[in-house]
Amino acid sequence: MAARRPLIVGNWKMHGTRAGAEQLLSALKAQIAGADLADREVAVAPPFTALETAARVLAGSPLRLAAQNLHWEPRGAFTGEISGTMLTELGCTYVILGHSERRQYFGESDEQVARKTRAAQRDGLVPIVCVGETLEERERGAMLAVITRQVRGALQGQSKSALASLAVAYEPVWAIGTGRTATPAQAQEVHAALRAELAKAGAADLCLLYGGSVKAASAAALFAMADVDGGLVGGASLDADEFLAIARA
Ligand code: PEP
Repeated sequence: MAARRPLIVGNWKMHGTRAGAEQLLSALKAQIAGADLADREVAVAPPFTALETAARVLAGSPLRLAAQNLHWEPRGAFTGEISGTMLTELGCTYVILGHSERRQYFGESDEQVARKTRAAQRDGLVPIVCVGETLEERERGAMLAVITRQVRGALQGQSKSALASLAVAYEPVWAIGTGRTATPAQAQEVHAALRAELAKAGAADLCLLYGGSVKAASAAALFAMADVDGGLVGGASLDADEFLAIARA
């Protein structure tokens, strides 16, 4: 992927039947046709079960498809899991990895996120690796230590060329789904620290997304920050008008 090309991704989480996905994506596709988004990449991440429908509806559109997770093995006895090759077959370009909901509810570790990141790249997907501190970690001053640990952990074993095709999303856990957005200055502080950390691995121009209650009203100020290259959008991505307004910001 091009260095620091703006990227806006809608994470639908566990929302959207196939019929609902068809409706939302048809609206998005129609509106995006006339929007001037040539300088940026816009993607949606529906649930696995709606990916095939989404690929069909989005055929011929510049909107890209992302998945919300994968398993690191290409195949095998892993009941309930989905591999990267299955996702590329469905037309996915990106995969969200290490989202805080997966870390919190499904016990995903930095080590597992690292395995998934390497598997995504092996299978031709661009990983969007999520990092972020809890409110408790921020309040006791551990924010940067946590984020540095997560990013180092997730990217361990990455070659410089592999690092070039990867994005990192800073998603403070206290801002996800809470309606409480980080201020642009708070986002910039962490993004600058992340970029400095990535620079040590020769990857200073990785695409860094901000996520956490981004809305049309807050997007422009966040995306204007020097080290914010785009957004990972949850709730607001379920509304075509709102998501498009964010993508345009
Ligand atoms: C997310 O889950 O990635 C997210 C950013 O959610 P929300 O925008 O709803 O806070």
